[in-house]
Amino acid sequence: MDRAAFKQRMNAYRQKLGQQMLDGFLVTREVNVHYLSGFTGDSSWLLVTRQEAFLLTDSRYTEQARQECLECHVVLVKESLEKTAAALAAAESVHRLGFESDFMTVAQHQRLAMAAALHPELVPSVDLCSALRQFKDEYELKWLREAAALGDRALTQLKPHLRPGITEREIGNRLNILMIEAGSEGLSFETIVASGFRGALPHGVPSDKPLEKGDMVTLDFGCIRKGYHSDMTRTFILGAPDPEQKARYELVLAAQMRAIEAIRPGRNTREIDAIARNLIKAAGFDENFGHGLGHSLGLEIHESPRFSPIAPPVVLEPGMLLTVEPGIYVPGWGGLRIEDMVLITEEGHDILTKFPKTLEDMTIIC
Ligand code: ZN
Ligand code: ZN
Repeated sequence: MDRAAFKQRMNAYRQKLGQQMLDGFLVTREVNVHYLSGFTGDSSWLLVTRQEAFLLTDSRYTEQARQECLECHVVLVKESLEKTAAALAAAESVHRLGFESDFMTVAQHQRLAMAAALHPELVPSVDLCSALRQFKDEYELKWLREAAALGDRALTQLKPHLRPGITEREIGNRLNILMIEAGSEGLSFETIVASGFRGALPHGVPSDKPLEKGDMVTLDFGCIRKGYHSDMTRTFILGAPDPEQKARYELVLAAQMRAIEAIRPGRNTREIDAIARNLIKAAGFDENFGHGLGHSLGLEIHESPRFSPIAPPVVLEPGMLLTVEPGIYVPGWGGLRIEDMVLITEEGHDILTKFPKTLEDMTIIC
């Protein structure tokens, strides 16, 4: 990422400070420090003032910080982060210093308050960064697209191994290796493999259960590139689907595709959730779809906003990226989910995960 892009991020952030009547902000949440400064280490804080930005770090990271943080002064912490931050804020004439009250610990706050004494004034604030992180810029989208493509590639390579007899754990392990071999920096989260009756667990981690003919097999997984996470789910069917499997698969697929078709700037998150939910409800599976329709993602696997029936509605704007992942989970029978990453564009939307998903594509003859 180049210097101009970081400058732009920092300027947008400073505008938010102004709106909050703050003349300084202490960013302590690791992912936000990374987002604003480019720093990829840990145990470091970022002090943003109206004019300057300072990365506070210890001797393990000073050299790395100088290389990564193009728009920050790197400050060596000798005693404690709290003392260094308080002294620096005072020296930079910060009067009202905001901090992320959802993420600072009580002990950190006590030490900071003691070090700051009366100056600067510590002002509890929300996470101002998350509002910026809702909108993905070109740099972020490049890596998010690549992470999504790695997931597609890994699943394509995994598909021939989905046979009766192999266990969920073996499938999970193989998929993880394929993702890493494809170039993923890690796993977005612990890969989910749930087959047969275990499909009723929306977040079933792989077990020693072998796959059997007639099973539906749900795989939910993601890759990471430059810190950016992908997330996708596909449900395969081992053998020709029975009428119940067919009907339920077509229902979830229709719910997902109708919701995606409606995604465009101006629609809100609750409306999109309702499109999928109402279809599932009309088929009598209201009780079997307990989670929200989807979530944003980026430097973290779950970000805001979300497609949800209960969260406050958020109007969709270009640059937002969310998953669309309806599912139904029936105890004793099993379950299924289909998930894609969908970018909101000026014209409508763009689906980043490309792996096919028709019932025919998902059926494995065995
Ligand atoms: Zn997922
Ligand atoms: Zn997801």
